[in-house]
Amino acid sequence: MSQTSETVLEIDLSALEHNYNYLRSKLSPNTKMLGVVKAFAYGSDSVAIAKRLSKIGIDYFAVAYTREGIALRKGGIQKPILVLHPQSTNFEEVIENDLLPNIYSKFTLEAFIETAEKLQLKKYPIHLKINTGLNRLGFDLDEMNWIAETLASTESVKVEGIFSHLAASEDEAERDFTKYQIENYQKALDTLLPQLDFPPIRHLCNTSGIINYPEAHYDMVRTGIGLYGFGNCAEEDKKLKPVGTLKTIISQIHHIKKGESVGYNRGFKAASATKTATLPLGHADGINRIYGKEKTGVLVNGYHAPIIGNVCMDMLMIDISGIDCKEGDEVILFGKEKSAEEFAHNAGTISYELITSISQRVKRKLIN
Ligand SMILES: *Cc1c(COP(=O)(O)O)cnc(C)c1O
Repeated sequence: MSQTSETVLEIDLSALEHNYNYLRSKLSPNTKMLGVVKAFAYGSDSVAIAKRLSKIGIDYFAVAYTREGIALRKGGIQKPILVLHPQSTNFEEVIENDLLPNIYSKFTLEAFIETAEKLQLKKYPIHLKINTGLNRLGFDLDEMNWIAETLASTESVKVEGIFSHLAASEDEAERDFTKYQIENYQKALDTLLPQLDFPPIRHLCNTSGIINYPEAHYDMVRTGIGLYGFGNCAEEDKKLKPVGTLKTIISQIHHIKKGESVGYNRGFKAASATKTATLPLGHADGINRIYGKEKTGVLVNGYHAPIIGNVCMDMLMIDISGIDCKEGDEVILFGKEKSAEEFAHNAGTISYELITSISQRVKRKLIN
């Protein structure tokens, strides 16, 4: 691997391809796959990721917000793009950019129909979201007949998909709850489908749902974290390859005497002579303060070096006592050689939060 001269997030597109193929192998041949590329494709590069996924056969994309969908269209992505969390004020832009809105409430359905009728559209495709227990976004089960009646009164929209989202598909202890969500989803379909003139794409599972609930794949699955190399359990993590590797270099080395302190608010106090290194990345790059105070660490020439004291905005300091290294040497925060899941877990958070936090200031480098 190439030696870096600054902080970079290396994005390995061959790892993405591996993960895609692995997840595909869990699906029956006619199940569609939607790649979730919200939040810059989980902190990487949404256009680059979506381009490669388009090339290797993904069927669909999803983003959270309308402007993320517009960025994909501007980047040349032509596959269908579902906007998971649009606002009614975005609906004209959704339509102008050929995006599919998630319609999740009476308010959004009425507002979307109003926009579509104003623009004199016929059968504009929408996806309906059902709340099956996450209690975040979605229609309640007792609103199915209202939906059917409302749709029957207009020609302007067509239901292309009906979906829901699982709250705890990675959690074995919540298996009963997930089953209850699947049952609720099925109930919603049983009420709604006979009232539609066209069979919609049914989709429920996220990454852990794909792995743990093969009976609930329906017509399409939505995978995010799995594509980026995390399976929410050690066994699956082994089969997937992390797409992002965050690396940087040692800017400066200091020899701290016993009793001296390091960093703002004197967050680290040396109990004995300590060799420290200063790295050119900080909380403005996405390495938040929770990772400081030795909660987690980085890899310097293959050795673990804890992050000491308070993480600064543009820098952080590590303890490299006993590690053979010099200024300019490469440092790995997470990636293939060091698990982002572990880096996050040791500081009390999850890989999703760590990788999506890597800020746009960090240079992205595509490989493979
Ligand atoms: C983010 C998101 C996903 C992807 O979940 P992963 O656990 O990353 O696979 C799927 N569906 C919805 C509705 C989401 O918001």
